[in-house]
Amino acid sequence: MDLWATVEYGKPLEKIQQPIPEPKGKEVLVKVTHCGVCHSDVHFWEGYFDMGGGKKLQMADRGAKLPFAHGHEILGNIVKAGPDAGEQPAGARRMVYPWLGCGECRRCAREEDNMCANQRSLGAVQNGGFAEYVLVPEPKYLVDPGDLDPAVACTFSCSGITTLNAVTKLMPMDPEEPVVLIGAGGLGLAAISVLKSYGHKNIISVDLGDDKLEAAKKAGATAVVNSSGANPAKDIMAAAEGPVLAVIDFVNISKTAAMVQTILAKGAKWVQVGIMGGSVDISLAGTVMKATTILGNLTGNLENLRELTRIAKEGKLPPLPVSTMPWDEVNKAMDMLREGKATGRLVLVK
Ligand code: NAD
Repeated sequence: MDLWATVEYGKPLEKIQQPIPEPKGKEVLVKVTHCGVCHSDVHFWEGYFDMGGGKKLQMADRGAKLPFAHGHEILGNIVKAGPDAGEQPAGARRMVYPWLGCGECRRCAREEDNMCANQRSLGAVQNGGFAEYVLVPEPKYLVDPGDLDPAVACTFSCSGITTLNAVTKLMPMDPEEPVVLIGAGGLGLAAISVLKSYGHKNIISVDLGDDKLEAAKKAGATAVVNSSGANPAKDIMAAAEGPVLAVIDFVNISKTAAMVQTILAKGAKWVQVGIMGGSVDISLAGTVMKATTILGNLTGNLENLRELTRIAKEGKLPPLPVSTMPWDEVNKAMDMLREGKATGRLVLVK
């Protein structure tokens, strides 16, 4: 099979060949037709995460062995299944849940694979959707998108479930209270749709680019703030008419985290999603005195994928902005994302 592989971290992906895997036991082989390109693919491809204070978490220490294909927003057609996988109709279209754990621990048994300490995620440490085929360990990781647009449904596996998981951390919430979303990229725009599916009415989208903010308005943001101004905190509080009770930071760098602390009202929730790196000083007494809840959010679980699919099939999820590109333009898509030139989610189509 062909795969667009990372052969050396930080170098253009190369089209290489590997044997098509043969499904054994409960495994299912899926031929990829659609794969979203996430900013996490850029971090994975760089080969490390910036953990702040000059520390780096190397992908090689997380079990990644090059060469392999990134890409974790995977949708495709079932090709064949192992002898213990049960009836798996060849040709059926399925979304693939990529955030695999070890498959053996209590977290995995509870379908909280994304919380497993021993990740073997598709597209992060083993072949994902930038390959022609992916091998899925069990049929339970496949979800039927029905008649949903496959270019949109593929994005549920990461941007969809991550934002669903982050939004549910804020709930229950008065729909008129402002929610501030920092970053209006793939995740930030998906979060607007997810919030609207919850009936939320007051959504403030923040980004450095007017084109991104235009897309946020189209997606249903009630107000937008360009944070490249001299005093973004003041501008956000003006849009919110005061300090806010809820922030989701899809950028989450030292600068945005320092700014977030200045806009939080008493009792606010601050959900951190972006992994663009850095660190920040947090006043411990200040956290207590403002009764702040700080929550990290790592992707979502299988139930999140099933739930988002249900919401979308019921017609309750406003359209997610995606643009499609040919599968062979993966390097272009990765460059666009890295350089901040992508508006909405880019989806590779074979
Ligand atoms: P993206 O590139 O599509 O969007 C990022 C957006 O942030 C862009 O619109 C950009 O203009 C904006 N931005 C950059 N710097 C900014 C700043 N200082 N202030 C305001 N806006 C700024 O990226 P994405 O795919 O939406 O991913 C966003 C982040 O979330 C990445 O770090 C990604 O790895 C991470 N992520 C985390 C999880 C998780 O489970 N926690 C899951 C998926 C992605």
